Amino acid sequence: MDVAVVEKAPEIYRKSIVWDSHSCMPIKANQDLSAVERHRRAGATFVSLNVGMDFNPLAQCIRVIAGFRDWIARNSDRYLLAGTVEDVKRAKREGKLAIAFDLEGSAMLEDDLTMLGLFRDLGVRQIHLAYNLNNSIASGCHDQDRGLTALGRAVVKEINRVGMLMDCSHTGRKTSLEIMEVSSKPVIFSHSNPLALREHVRNITDEQIDKCAGTGGVIGICGIGPFLGNNDIRTETVIRHIDYVAQRVGAQHIGLGLDYVFHPEIDDLPAHESPDKWWPRALGYGGTGGAMQIVPPEQLPEIAAGLVQRGYADADIAGILGGNFIRAAEQTWIG
Ligand SMILES: [Zn+2]
Repeated sequence: MDVAVVEKAPEIYRKSIVWDSHSCMPIKANQDLSAVERHRRAGATFVSLNVGMDFNPLAQCIRVIAGFRDWIARNSDRYLLAGTVEDVKRAKREGKLAIAFDLEGSAMLEDDLTMLGLFRDLGVRQIHLAYNLNNSIASGCHDQDRGLTALGRAVVKEINRVGMLMDCSHTGRKTSLEIMEVSSKPVIFSHSNPLALREHVRNITDEQIDKCAGTGGVIGICGIGPFLGNNDIRTETVIRHIDYVAQRVGAQHIGLGLDYVFHPEIDDLPAHESPDKWWPRALGYGGTGGAMQIVPPEQLPEIAAGLVQRGYADADIAGILGGNFIRAAEQTWIG
């Protein structure tokens, strides 16, 4: 790396709001979230933590949110619960890590539209409608894609109204295109990579990328090794995915969604569920002979340096690191 990059990259990184649009703590009650300090130490400003998936019942999601909120409140010297973009900017000024919540799926709504406003009031700022498999609202990316149901259309409109980011990761391709038709606000893929670079059902087509950009949305490049390449989390591989999206729709539609799993040693899948149902081995999840690699928060500064090295403009780098998700949140969150 040349001297100019070595000097310039840390400064751009330090000045930027660094936004991780999705990472994972165990979906269990009363969790110690102290590992999230890794994000703060790495210079991140914001992380969205998952508080429930389609296999987590409503009561469990509420318990998880209660525990996360309590932990953040008891550690307010370093963390804050972000409800607004201004909260995120304040976290940056104060050297804190802003945390908001996301839901991976919509089964926990129990087909009740009024649950969206409640989850929003509890700190959820981002939601997808299906997690890999179909439910009563939408289709998942591992399943037969039947599109949005009538209830699903109403859910999208209510998500727009209450002020959450509409997230199409894990969603069926046809369903995601329909969501982007119905949504009146920018739609994001919080953690999804271009299919053109890596064949996987979790990755997204050019049509999905184009349509997302058309809504003013953002594609969060995902740090999961098997979605980037052959379990490959090298910075040059992350940059290759960024380059592809940038060349197709412009750097203003790119962000980062590491999907970092802080505690892979903790099994949080409900007892009656089988991992193979949600993450089939045939699709490359687990069972490939080695641990699944995920881009860790500590790699974020190196990604910034990689973008400088690749010749991205300073403003584009700031956008990719977090400015683009800030823009989408400003147009979406109500606060
Ligand atoms: Zn996910």
